[in-house]
Parts: sequence; C-alpha cells; structure tokens
Amino acid sequence: MTDAGTGAATLLAVEGLEARHGLLPAVRGVSLAVAEGERLALVGANGAGKTTLLRAIAGAHPVTAGAIRFAGADVTRLPAHRRVGLGIALVPEGRRLFPDMTVVENLLVAGRHGRPGPWTVDAVLDAFPLLRPLRHRRAAALSGGEQQATAIGRALMTNPRLLLLDEVSLGLAPRAVDAVYESLAHLAGATVILVEQDLGRGLAIADRVVCLLEGRIVLEGAAAALSREQVTEAYFGLVPRAP
Ligand code: ATP
Repeated sequence: MTDAGTGAATLLAVEGLEARHGLLPAVRGVSLAVAEGERLALVGANGAGKTTLLRAIAGAHPVTAGAIRFAGADVTRLPAHRRVGLGIALVPEGRRLFPDMTVVENLLVAGRHGRPGPWTVDAVLDAFPLLRPLRHRRAAALSGGEQQATAIGRALMTNPRLLLLDEVSLGLAPRAVDAVYESLAHLAGATVILVEQDLGRGLAIADRVVCLLEGRIVLEGAAAALSREQVTEAYFGLVPRAP
C-alpha cells in the first residue's frame, strides 16, 4: 500500500477505530493513514480524544472496534510490548520516567525492549546535547524540558519506526519547548504522530494535520494548505461536521 500523495509506503493504517473510557466513547470511528517518513500533527481541544487515540495505537488502551495495521501487519490485539518490538514507541503525556534512576539508566531500560538499530545512549546524547552533562543525574532532579528530552530519548532507544509524541510541550518553559522542537526537527526521516496543543508549533513541524473534535476527525489536510483559522475553527467545532 502506498500513500497517494507522496508515493511513500503506508506505515500505519487506522480503520474505523473506536475506544471508550467506561461507557464514554472517546475515539469514534477514526480512520487515518500515515506514510513512512511523514509527520502528522494531531490537534484538538481538551478531551477531543487525542491521547486515547495515541494510546490505542501504542496498545496502551483497548479498542472496542476497528483495526490498526502497522507495516502491513494487523496489530489491533497485540500487547503494547510486542508493538514496541515492531517499532511503535509512545512518549506519554507527563513523561513517566523512573524518578530515582539516572538519565542513562532510564535510556538503558527502554533499549532492552526495542528493535536493533542505530539508537544508542551516545546517539541520544548527541541528539539532545543538553542531556550529556546531566547523564548521571536522577530524573527527578531534572527540569521539565530535560525530562522531556530524556523521555523522547527513551523512546528513540527502542529504534522506533513510528514515534508517538503526546503533548511534548505541556508544562515546559518556552525556551525548553524550543530546545525540544529543535531536536525533533533533526530527527530526519522519522515517522511521527505528534499531539500538540500549540497550533503554531504543530503546523510548523508537521507535513499533515488531523483535527479531532469529540472523538471524530473534523479536518484533515496538508499543513501547508491549511490556514491557522481553518484549523482553529475545526478545533472549536465551528465548521460543518462530516455526517
Ligand atoms: P487532553 O488534551 O485533555 O489530554 P485529549 O484530546 O487527549 O485531551 P483524551 O484524554 O483522549 O482527550 O480524552 C477523551 C475523552 O475521554 C474525554 O471526554 C475525557 O474526559 C475522557 N477520558 C480521558 N481519560 C479518562 C479516564 N481515565 N477516565 C474516564 N474518562 C476519561
């Protein structure tokens, strides 16, 4: 399967996905495809279902209907650790590091579960130079931006083919956000789905944008072809919804 626009192979295909929290439907019939090397920004207001969708793709949240195909294989019922082994890595909202372990220890723990590949502790410290002098510091003693860089590095240590980033800028000082985005911009060729509340950042880094509203996709398009106003209107539900 190839992406019609770019000719690149489809890496991830989500079809008619439904996920709930108890009785509450959080993701409602979402279908999307991500091509190899593509950067997709998932935007939407609080509670739109972005985190639930990312977690469902990673295998961290059960789905009630639909399918998730990754690199041609049906992974819908595969446990999270098996998806990591196939190349799906989630950087969760709130980072979830081991607070008493050092930066390097946090990186090494993740490396055990992933695929073989180019990412090593040294490669992560090259990608995030701010971490090199802090590599033996406990995660709990790092700033928010440093923790975020460690969390992204931890995901990279699994040598992912698809990186799922949930709210990487949440709670960070603007300069820390700049540093994290600067490093992300240098991950050339990475396939990324990025959840970002900051529309400007999301649009700037993404090739394509998907906007969720109440669990459904209400807008989808090339980032370069969408205006900020169009995305903002979809974000707040000010455009006619798909039937
Ligand atoms: P946010 O930006 O606030 O993280 P989001 O777009 O990521 O929002 P989700 O966190 O996926 O949205 O939430 C989707 C829906 O599921 C919302 O209605 C939310 O209230 C509900 N929800 C999320 N987490 C839980 C939970 N642990 N228990 C019950 N309901 C939940």
